[in-house]
Amino acid sequence: MTKYIYEFGPRRTEGDATRNDLLGGKGANLAEMARLGLPVPAGFTISTECCNHYFELGGRFPDTLEDGILKALANVENEMNMKFGDRENPLLVSCRSGARSSMPGMMETVLNVGLCSKTIPGLIQRTGNEWFVYDAYRRLIMMYSDVVMEKADQVISEDGMGIRLNLEMMMNNLKNDRGYENDTDISVDDLKGLCDRFKKKIKEYLKTDFPDDPYDQLMGAVGAVFKSWYGKRAVSYRRIEHIPDSWGTAVNVQSMVFGNMGNTSATGVAFSRDPATGEDKFYGEWLVNAQGEDVVAGTRTPNPLNNDTKNRQNKHLPSLEEAMPDLYAQLFEIRNRLESHYKDMQDIEFTIQEGRLYMLQCRNGKRTATAALNMAMDMFDQGMIDEKTMVCRLDPRVLDDMLHPIVDPAEEQKAAKVAEGLPAGPGGAWGEIVFTAEDAVQWAKTGKNVILIREETNPEDIEGMRAASAILTARGGMTSHAALVARGWGKCCIVGAGALKINMETRQVRAGTRVFNEGDVFTLNGTKGMVYEGRLKMKDATENSRFKQFMTAADKYRTMQVRTNADTPEDARTALEFGAQGIGLFRTEHMFYGADSDRALFLLRKMILSQSRDERQQALDELFPHVKKEIYETLKVMDNLPVTLRLLDPPLHEFVPQSEKNQEEIARALGIDPEEVVRRSVLLKESNPMIGHRGVRLGITFPEITRMQVMAVFEASAQLIQEGGSPLPEIMVPVTCNEKELEFTRKIVEDCHGQTLETYGLKTLPYLFGTMIEIPRAALIADKMAETAEFFSFGTNDLTQMCFGFSRDDIGSFMNDYIDNAILASDPFETLDQEAVGSLIEISVERGKKTRPDIKLGICGEHGGDSASVEFCHRAGLTYVSCSPYRVPIARLAAAQAAIKNGA
Ligand code: ADP
Ligand code: MG
Ligand code: MG
Repeated sequence: MTKYIYEFGPRRTEGDATRNDLLGGKGANLAEMARLGLPVPAGFTISTECCNHYFELGGRFPDTLEDGILKALANVENEMNMKFGDRENPLLVSCRSGARSSMPGMMETVLNVGLCSKTIPGLIQRTGNEWFVYDAYRRLIMMYSDVVMEKADQVISEDGMGIRLNLEMMMNNLKNDRGYENDTDISVDDLKGLCDRFKKKIKEYLKTDFPDDPYDQLMGAVGAVFKSWYGKRAVSYRRIEHIPDSWGTAVNVQSMVFGNMGNTSATGVAFSRDPATGEDKFYGEWLVNAQGEDVVAGTRTPNPLNNDTKNRQNKHLPSLEEAMPDLYAQLFEIRNRLESHYKDMQDIEFTIQEGRLYMLQCRNGKRTATAALNMAMDMFDQGMIDEKTMVCRLDPRVLDDMLHPIVDPAEEQKAAKVAEGLPAGPGGAWGEIVFTAEDAVQWAKTGKNVILIREETNPEDIEGMRAASAILTARGGMTSHAALVARGWGKCCIVGAGALKINMETRQVRAGTRVFNEGDVFTLNGTKGMVYEGRLKMKDATENSRFKQFMTAADKYRTMQVRTNADTPEDARTALEFGAQGIGLFRTEHMFYGADSDRALFLLRKMILSQSRDERQQALDELFPHVKKEIYETLKVMDNLPVTLRLLDPPLHEFVPQSEKNQEEIARALGIDPEEVVRRSVLLKESNPMIGHRGVRLGITFPEITRMQVMAVFEASAQLIQEGGSPLPEIMVPVTCNEKELEFTRKIVEDCHGQTLETYGLKTLPYLFGTMIEIPRAALIADKMAETAEFFSFGTNDLTQMCFGFSRDDIGSFMNDYIDNAILASDPFETLDQEAVGSLIEISVERGKKTRPDIKLGICGEHGGDSASVEFCHRAGLTYVSCSPYRVPIARLAAAQAAIKNGA
């Protein structure tokens, strides 16, 4: 027989904090607090396993459950010296949901279960407080009708309002009619009358009677808590947080204690340290004569817990420290006990019933990024935790928030939302909206802050993207052009905001029923993907010395190297500041996008549109000094550090001139007419450019293109050596799938190498030759690839694309459906798919090492900055990960944590 029920209380506790998979976080911590001897009202937890069986049985309780509940209830009755459903001395309970990880506000709780016509008189007798009893009763009716009778049974109301709102309206009308300001002002007679009218309304609205039997109430509430696991809000929260459906929720049945028994009673919530700043200060709010959610619900302004918690809104209200000093001292003592026991900041709920303090919940508290950093370091300094624990306390993803200016969260709460999209580039920004790259450039020149809105971006928008303070697109996914570029620059960016309808003719954007014009101001939160109307205040990312200290500590444990994806000397410099140990990916093509690239881009276009070999060679010769200069500067910044330079990767048609002006210019340069330019451009069009004539394939057709780039690398290096530098170039061939492609290219490289040595009179010029592994075929024949390649770099964006057969530019239209239907747990372009893409990597590592045991292994997809993926790379035995400059700290921390967790 499966054990479903675990008791907790002052005398008998079965669970503890380690059982939160079975008992849920709330149940496990209630048990733990009871074990610590803290004043926890007795109760029991019905396990998550029971929840799962309940659903397996099609929404029926397992046979043994009811008996089990009665037995456990009897123990609680003994403990409390009260009886559930008793006429004279009735016990009331709460039924509280609690999953493995906290899902704030997502599931249901019912308080005061057991109040009915049989028990009301007895409770009034015992307490001598009629007001309190009817206040508790009206709360029960409001919660129960909503949670158990309506939501759990999925009743859809005709007026679309639901029972809860109807009842709330009745209560508000009463308050208005009688001139009551607070809930606590309502008279006993009015409360009684209200309860009667509530029950009539329920009968009329839900076509059933409000249950008057305490056991019916109890079993109904337990079932409703189970059902709330599949409630709409809970399900969508799980999708976002990647929480599996199979976890289920536990139900905690706990004897009620009452904060609404008069002026010596109260309820409150607190954090053992300030969750916003991390300061070591007890922080919280409380209300006198109140119950349950009153503090959070915001119907009354809660009082400050103590002096440290006073702010502009609440400083006139008495603190608990002032009003009930003894109880505050007890609570403070408990706060210290909990912190030293859990060794982390605790979020607690407490209730005071007629001068006695009870603990109702504790859990590790949510915190801001800065608070997390400060708390971890303080706790280490205070000797509470060791250094490894400190390093593991900070979720690497939150570093993003610390390194970019962000939208002030307080302002954001009040702001008017325009649309939502994918959080492609972190941080916050505001600006006047414009619809073309040219406008972005022009407006920015006049000193304006602009946000560039596009359907999606392409390389021709680059200048405008640079000039804009943020980028917003209606289409595209996390690896779309806009997203990649923005992330690389650390620029605020939101992509795939599908609700935006752009009208290029009128220069307007529509969001639902609202229309915005060019020049209107938006604010973007790129960390969350939220678009707001108007200008919101920003908070500056602090150049935090503690952050540096923290990262130095983390680096001690790291075994993998972290490089950066950088295409310009500026990016390289930024990355160095963030701690990069080299460049894992320098994309040659980016030198044709950036600022001052007009000339280089023009020459590249000339080369692309050349038809004869001579025409092409001439264009290449003109291009050569530009390419060499860019490479020279980047190698110089990264002196003594490895720099992986990738040969031209994208399909050529991406660079073909679109505007008439650009077409004419090229035509003139080539001595042909513009129609001929258009004709040649059309010839370059491919139906599947992603798997078309690109990467190494270009160099097979046009070896002179490879030669020009390789010569630029070697000459730039030679020049640096002559100047006393130590460049460490690594030449990388993209889009390979066959060892002969590598042999072919290697010959060109060796030839260029020899030629450079001779020209510059050098004895050595160290370099490595290697390949991307981004086509599944290449991964599978890694042993052959390694015969020529001295290093592999896993291009996980393309590897994912080709492994899944998902076009990375088009997944925006269906990825959400895959996530919503739990077909995929997460977007594989964000978090590496360890099952299949990961297998390809493991296979390549194994086979590559067989041929070349000292082969260097790296990853240069966007995954290099994702912590779960970084941990995978650590386990797979990679030498380094590489990611955009702003993600370098994230990767450093993730790699350190991976080493600690995997016992390095
Ligand atoms: P949530 O997970 O939404 O916080 P809880 O189960 O913690 O839901 O309960 C909601 C509110 O009711 C909390 O303020 C809690 O402290 C209060 N509450 C729950 N059970 C009891 C109880 N047995 N006695 C008094 N208050 C309770
Ligand atoms: Mg709670
Ligand atoms: Mg690629």
